Amino acid sequence: MTKAARLMLPFGALVLIAALAHAQGPPDFSKVQIRTNKIADNFFTLDGQGGTIGVLTGPDGVFMVDTQFAPLSEKIAAAVKQITPQPIRFIVNTHVHGDHTGGDENFGKMGATIISREELRFRLAHPNPQNNGQPGVPMPAAGLPKQTYGNRLTLNMNGQEIQLIAVPRAHTDGDTMVFFPGLDIIMTGDFYRSIQYPNVDRNNGGSVQGLIDGLGAVIGRAGPNTKIIPGHGPTVDRTAVATHRDVALAIRNRVAALVSQGKTEDEVVAAKVNADLDARVQEPGTTGERFVRQAYADLKAGR
Ligand SMILES: [Zn+2]
Repeated sequence: MTKAARLMLPFGALVLIAALAHAQGPPDFSKVQIRTNKIADNFFTLDGQGGTIGVLTGPDGVFMVDTQFAPLSEKIAAAVKQITPQPIRFIVNTHVHGDHTGGDENFGKMGATIISREELRFRLAHPNPQNNGQPGVPMPAAGLPKQTYGNRLTLNMNGQEIQLIAVPRAHTDGDTMVFFPGLDIIMTGDFYRSIQYPNVDRNNGGSVQGLIDGLGAVIGRAGPNTKIIPGHGPTVDRTAVATHRDVALAIRNRVAALVSQGKTEDEVVAAKVNADLDARVQEPGTTGERFVRQAYADLKAGR
């Protein structure tokens, strides 16, 4: 997540986007192309900038998972129109981050009903302060979820059962896993990602243990042929998720041992407990250190 990615940019706020581009170098949304990938006869993913979008089509209308950034909404709506003439009826947000919820207001105004965990709706309405210290920008009413749920919500559309399953305090405190048992597809949002190390947004209620438990919940539902579509990175199978969980557990346990020896955060980072794990992570970059620091903070907080 970049700073810019946390913001929920109102549609048409080009001046603000230009200012951000100058200050922080986020993507030039005008150059972003939406790529459509067919996963099953009536199921597609859309990749543009930000989290991967899921699209279930059929006579009942479109069910969509996440919305990417607000400036991309017209392109995303056009990409959906290329697949089906049906309207976008329902959207579920997998978590609060702006690269997954930024388009909510636009799609809400187009008539879609947005669904999320109760915790996620609260965070959209009462966002954390921005990194520069300015107050967070609440999601306008048209973009707030109209339907919320606690532990689980099941929809039946287009001949498919759609299970929205709460994943408590993982990447954030509002994470949802979306399971399509008839299609053998699971979408995870960002509590699982097939590139980089795990990422826990503690400021938005995430926790390392919750993330590890969430990965276990995915593995437990997945069969050998289940397509697991992460928030970021390519579609994978359950063995990739199991590897990711092994990496998360190894780091958490190694950091715990150092914490119990009284090491400081910087001493734990200097120990490079993730060095031998980089080979098991696609595009690790500096995300190993980030996750080590997150694990340290959680363990110090007694989680
Ligand atoms: Zn995220």
